[in-house]
Amino acid sequence: MTAKRIAIIGAGPSGMAQMRAFQSAQQKGEEIPEVVCFEKQSNWGGLWNYTWRTGLDEYGEPVHCSMYRYLWSNGPKEGLEFADYSFEEHFGKQIASYPPRAVLFDYMVGRVEKAKIRKWIRFNSPVRFVRYNEAEENFTVTVHDQIEDSTYEETFDHVICASGHFSTPNVPFYEGFDTFNGRILHAHDFRDAREFAGQDILVVGSSYSAEDIGSQCWKYGANSITSCYRSAPMGFDWPANWEEKPALERVDGKTVYFKDGTTREIDAIILCTGYKHFFNFLPDDLRLKTANRLAAADLYKGVVFVKNPKMFYLGMQDQWFTFNMFDAQAWWVRDAIMGKIDVPSDPEVLQADVEERVAREEESDDVKYAIKYQGDYIKELIAETDYPSFDVDGACEAFYAWKQHKMDDIMAFRNNSYRSVITGTMAPVHHTSWKDALDDSLEVYLQN
Ligand SMILES: Cc1cc2nc3c(=O)[nH]c(=O)nc-3n(C[C@H](O)[C@H](O)[C@H](O)COP(=O)(O)OP(=O)(O)OC[C@H]3O[C@@H](n4cnc5c(N)ncnc54)[C@H](O)[C@@H]3O)c2cc1C
Repeated sequence: MTAKRIAIIGAGPSGMAQMRAFQSAQQKGEEIPEVVCFEKQSNWGGLWNYTWRTGLDEYGEPVHCSMYRYLWSNGPKEGLEFADYSFEEHFGKQIASYPPRAVLFDYMVGRVEKAKIRKWIRFNSPVRFVRYNEAEENFTVTVHDQIEDSTYEETFDHVICASGHFSTPNVPFYEGFDTFNGRILHAHDFRDAREFAGQDILVVGSSYSAEDIGSQCWKYGANSITSCYRSAPMGFDWPANWEEKPALERVDGKTVYFKDGTTREIDAIILCTGYKHFFNFLPDDLRLKTANRLAAADLYKGVVFVKNPKMFYLGMQDQWFTFNMFDAQAWWVRDAIMGKIDVPSDPEVLQADVEERVAREEESDDVKYAIKYQGDYIKELIAETDYPSFDVDGACEAFYAWKQHKMDDIMAFRNNSYRSVITGTMAPVHHTSWKDALDDSLEVYLQN
């Protein structure tokens, strides 16, 4: 019998987790399927693979990266540490708790370099289409080889979609945008806070992007930050030159009008208005349609597509946990594909699982409840695989402490440190406070 063929779409943290999961089974002497990962960028790392480009890349493809210069982890690294590859193993020592992007990129790449799985990836290869063949019970995947500028098709027994969902911006229109006398951009296109030094900026939104992009602009010298919310303010104790306003209503010239009747003069508007789950390479019958939430629609166990259980999705949930949750999912999907875990064949059973997760998520709006909910999900998955067990509750504790540290001082929460739930060591306090640390390079961050 020939080995099964598995297509993974995307070599970001989720796709890399999937490859590492298969490689770890192989390392234990198990026969694994043939794994092919298609990645549209020229390198791995997904969102963490920084580019200065915005809009379209050199091949005319939408730029995937939504990250920016000077981005530091927005949550403690103790909440995302790989159970099979600690920060100490990678860096040879424990490091501070909120690493900049380049440091986390280095860490995640270290694990897959050790696993030697780069050879499974076809870079510069956007997937253009996936079709399910009813008769053969397999998938035809159409891929664009950008180097050769040619397209080709291959068949696979399973498709694992790990293409991310924080890349296609949700861009609202407000009256007066078309005549605004300044710059309007979405967070996806934000690259360098220094561009806004000396300016009065408006940040539209009240989630992570709004908080972090506003904080970046503050740190790198914006004159003032105004942020506005639709439902609830972020409610932090902001610096003197940061003000939160209710919803934006309209814009006229450089004047912005808020719902409470107040106005402000603004130089630039940054839309931190979220992203869309967007899969333009998938037909209706395979395409996930979900809101950004913890219990994603139509995914049994958060990973099996209920409308076609041969298709899997990774990392499609809203995320408290990231790298270690992708691992839990990847190990579980591997075992489902390798026949070690039974996926029920009755669609009603699959759907009932989804509904139970949705109902449980909706039981509370409390943040701690949500963090624990996702922690429990990780525990559920890893209990069914050989992913190294770790203290998930301890990781939740790091998140609870992080939430409190943000309330204590939003511009200083990154100066705190936490204990690793993988090695048990306490992270050192970083040598420079976040607001004074203007150089985010790996070399400077790792200095003692
Ligand atoms: C601004 C920002 C800041 C963040 N900060 C943090 C943080 O501090 N800490 C944290 O843990 N998480 C953070 N995240 C969350 C982030 O979602 C995860 O860390 C992680 O990158 C998700 O991994 P992924 O592999 O699921 O998706 P992605 O990282 O988006 O990777 C998806 C990959 O799929 C590829 N791809 C897409 N379409 C195709 C196609 N058609 N064909 C082939 N390849 C394709 C892309 O090129 C990409 O490489 C942040 C997200 C954003 C947007």
